[in-house]
Amino acid sequence: MDRDLSDDDSVVDLSFEAESPLAPPAELLETLPSCDWVLQGDRHQIFFPPSETAGRPQEQRCWSSFLEHRVPVVTEEVAREALLSFVDSKCCYGSAAAGDLVILELKQQNLCRYRLETFSESRISEWTFQPFTNHSVDGPQRGTSPRLWDIKVQVPPMFQEDTRRFQVPHSSLVKECHKCHGRGRYKCSGCHGAGTVRCSSCSGAKRKAKSARRCQMCSGSGRRRCSTCSGRGNKTCATCKGEKKLLHFTQLVIAWKNSLFEFVSEPQLDCPGELLAKARGETLFKDENTTVYPIVDFPLREISLASRRGISEHSAALASRARVLQQRQTLELIPLTEVRYWYQGKTDVYYIYGTDHQVYVVDYPERCCCGCTIL
Ligand SMILES: [Zn+2]
Ligand SMILES: [Zn+2]
Ligand SMILES: [Zn+2]
Repeated sequence: MDRDLSDDDSVVDLSFEAESPLAPPAELLETLPSCDWVLQGDRHQIFFPPSETAGRPQEQRCWSSFLEHRVPVVTEEVAREALLSFVDSKCCYGSAAAGDLVILELKQQNLCRYRLETFSESRISEWTFQPFTNHSVDGPQRGTSPRLWDIKVQVPPMFQEDTRRFQVPHSSLVKECHKCHGRGRYKCSGCHGAGTVRCSSCSGAKRKAKSARRCQMCSGSGRRRCSTCSGRGNKTCATCKGEKKLLHFTQLVIAWKNSLFEFVSEPQLDCPGELLAKARGETLFKDENTTVYPIVDFPLREISLASRRGISEHSAALASRARVLQQRQTLELIPLTEVRYWYQGKTDVYYIYGTDHQVYVVDYPERCCCGCTIL
């Protein structure tokens, strides 16, 4: 790979030239299969999958059995335990108030959380290249490239996101490296091919200012070996790694993604919605299939509407650019309890939410203000 330095004159200085954009070799573009769903993008092509039309199943769900489901009622004892363990986890909350406060009233409301997950696959193709290392070339002469959605690949487990790249069969072409014009090396920008640079210690004067002694750093030569190219005057082309040729090919990029839609029914109690969205719930109903259909007759109308909205949002967002592989909709019950208490002449509230009894307290009576944020 190393060239003789006498070659220097034939080496083009491209070190200041920006990396060429990934342009498809014109001669290969003509051979790409023409498909109905091919859209020309600026850098890559987007391939739409053939649309699938599926009939709507005539399925009636009986919701009464789901609604009979009860989560355990939060008792006074449970409410106090939850507060005590919450207070324990905070370094600036004292536990005396949690033990002594008088619980006046418990109000429980069970909220419903609807969640839709859509696992989809999208495919794009783009041109790429790599140094050509003399292996056989799978070009158009070996056949027509398959259409992108016809290429069979191993799908990861459902709902597990991943991105993978594949070389499209019969799309390869070997070209001279556009960066070094097939030379494998280019002139070093540090020394412009000389292999040496002016000595920085004596600025090329061979001796130090006001000194009769010759410069020790360059042994009086005024020049030093170029550190960029180790004195060779040229550098191996980083684009082709010195191979002089590049293998261009179409790369299929497949991305498997999860889209999430979530809705929590409106709480009548004054607990922040973002806590309820993250709260642990109890699954009432789970429906997983290649396509799921909106819940239409759920007794809570807002849930039926959310289901319809989630499914249409996902289908609108994905229809033109991805293929849905699997959908899952779940309904969960999230218990929420408002605890009204009395402590040292004042009444206030705190909330217990989720099946794991998380606590939200606005104004805990026994709190120091050291500003710590230890959870
Ligand atoms: Zn150099
Ligand atoms: Zn010097
Ligand atoms: Zn090159």
